Amino acid sequence: MAGVIRRLDEAVVNRIAAGEVIQRPANAIKEMIENCLDAKSTSIQVVVKEGGLKLIQVQDNGCGIRKEDLDIVCERFTTSKLQKFEDLASISTYGFRGEALASISHVAHVTVTSKTADAKCAYRATYSDGKIKAAPKPCAGNQGTQITVEDLFYNVNTRRKALKNPNEEYAKILEVVSRYAIHNSGISFSVKKQGDTVSDVRTLSNASTVDNIRSIFGNAVSRELIEVGCEDAGLAFKMKGYITNANYSVKKCAFLLFINHRLVESAALRKAIETVYAAYLPKSTHPFLYLSLEIAPQNVDVNVHPTKHEVHFLHEDSILECVQQHVESKLLGSNSSRMYFTQTLLPGADCSSSEVVKSAANSSAVAKGTSDKVYAHQMVRTDSREQKLDAFLQPVNNPLSTGCTEATTEANAGPLESVVRPQESEMEDVSDLVEMADVEQDTVVPVEMSESGRLSPEAVPPRKRPREDVDVEMKKDNTRKDMTAACTPRRRIINLTSVLTLQEEISNQAHANLQEMLHDHSFVGCVSPQWALAQYQTKLYLLNTTRLSQELFYQILIYDFANFGVLRLSEPAPLYELSMLALEDPESGWTEEDGPKEELAEYIVEFLKKKTDMLKDYFSLEIDKEGNLTGLPLLIENYVPPLEGLPMFILRLATENEDSDSGSTTWKWTVEHILYKAFRTHLLPPKHFTEDGNILQLANLPDLYKVFERC
Ligand code: ADP
Ligand code: MG
Repeated sequence: MAGVIRRLDEAVVNRIAAGEVIQRPANAIKEMIENCLDAKSTSIQVVVKEGGLKLIQVQDNGCGIRKEDLDIVCERFTTSKLQKFEDLASISTYGFRGEALASISHVAHVTVTSKTADAKCAYRATYSDGKIKAAPKPCAGNQGTQITVEDLFYNVNTRRKALKNPNEEYAKILEVVSRYAIHNSGISFSVKKQGDTVSDVRTLSNASTVDNIRSIFGNAVSRELIEVGCEDAGLAFKMKGYITNANYSVKKCAFLLFINHRLVESAALRKAIETVYAAYLPKSTHPFLYLSLEIAPQNVDVNVHPTKHEVHFLHEDSILECVQQHVESKLLGSNSSRMYFTQTLLPGADCSSSEVVKSAANSSAVAKGTSDKVYAHQMVRTDSREQKLDAFLQPVNNPLSTGCTEATTEANAGPLESVVRPQESEMEDVSDLVEMADVEQDTVVPVEMSESGRLSPEAVPPRKRPREDVDVEMKKDNTRKDMTAACTPRRRIINLTSVLTLQEEISNQAHANLQEMLHDHSFVGCVSPQWALAQYQTKLYLLNTTRLSQELFYQILIYDFANFGVLRLSEPAPLYELSMLALEDPESGWTEEDGPKEELAEYIVEFLKKKTDMLKDYFSLEIDKEGNLTGLPLLIENYVPPLEGLPMFILRLATENEDSDSGSTTWKWTVEHILYKAFRTHLLPPKHFTEDGNILQLANLPDLYKVFERC
């Protein structure tokens, strides 16, 4: 059965057409605000109820609507702004086609109250389906216009159902009004929910653009703004605005774009600018941009559909390139002068902080326009997986291979033969010490790892070490290594609240970007036993090895609590001698008042002997019945702590907390191939490292490159 073709009812046609123009409350408000601006208002106040679905009220102090015009104001194609077709090319007002109010009146109940300067009173009229319902009534009112829109889409079921969430609509409204407020400094705007006393957006007529950005987007944005401005007579365009410098970056780009004072979108322009920023901001973070372009009206397609915010204009590519170049030059200017003096220079430290620092260009960065030129700074190798040859050349006297053989098989006398001889008082001579360590390369056996890999490469953000699997047979899974050479075949479940709390603290403190940086760094070299240089992407960092190791060992202690391997001393070291040695050291802080050293040493031995069981159980610290130290916790595979620190360690163990210093002829190798290797996967770097100078960014290659380029 063929369908019968019928002419649609006019009201239905209008309603459909209206729905095309007004799709949600924010569209209606945008149109109404543009009308207020066209009417030269200096104050625009918006009140809404239920996200604008129940009520929208826009009040201005503009020129008003004459009583005679109120009759037809809501009819289609009635406008005070355009008379002849030729005017279209030079139109300077927002509206020109008289479509907005008409559309709104087809899908909502509209009331207009308005007073012109020379009228004695205000007049009010209500509208439905484009037509005035009754003659305008005189009423009281200030100069200007107030338009109320009630029950939006009351007659368009589908639309009403699609807009169920008033909060979402309200957010859109705030977004639109804020943007117009920023673009129109000198005019005061406010938006609030009906019944609220406080506005959610409020700008003052004497506030500057930056003031407005501050009051709407906050200080973090406003203090990092760079003013931009350029023009090109040939291309017949002008651009001005404010953009954030490279210190600011957020997950979501805020791009406020006005072309000929109209809020629009331009995917092409957005992309062009973001390409420039890619060289300055951490990966997948974005700037704040407010740009106002004025383009010769004849070059812009003004006849765009009201909801088609995406604009195109003549000479688009050339204009984009021009803007791009200007933005880049501005960023560079702000950047080279700041980069080297800012303290907290870390990749995406804390996005809310103003001191956030840009991370390097990732390889895809700066590509100008359509050219796919590769910049020199993009040709740097930054792959941390590239190994250095010396990683395979263990120094002869590296006290390696203490590993697991000893730890697992109790009987095996360790290769660390006579490591500690406290009787000999030349402990300072580090090389002596190391030479005492007898290296037996072939005693190294692959270390079995616990399967609960705390920091597998794919796991960036802080997470808890899974505990479910602790009591399961370990798998020989080398892809997920645990940080310790935990040679005990089974992990023990630790339910001590104190330990669990500390674990949680560590994981809460972890900084994902830093972790990523440590994970993927390329080791550059040691500056001193305490400081080392590492590269990440195209940035150079100075890292405090000592602090990072302390943190690492602390974390290992906490996470592998009661699950350490044992680093067995081949010759027991008498605790008494160790204590005495430590007390001789001025570092111990011993004074006469503390009593005779011998007495203290005895106390220490007794104290530790009493704790033997606990120390062995939890920390793999072994003490025999005679008061000799026989085993130390094995914290990282192949890492033997500098043993000259042992006396002080014992002293602190009994009196307070542990401490140790690095030092060995092979310390450089150890730092690079053991410590930094462990940092890659085993350390959850705490946030404060971004602020306390323990990790500092020294240079950023793209910037250096650009600085040289300009010379
Ligand atoms: P357009 O803006 O395209 O002219 P509108 O439907 O938005 O069409 O508005 C129709 C007319 O109503 C405008 O041309 C203007 O004369 C009048 N008008 C609407 N809002 C206001 C206002 N806030 N102040 C003064 N006049 C207004
Ligand atoms: Mg209009």
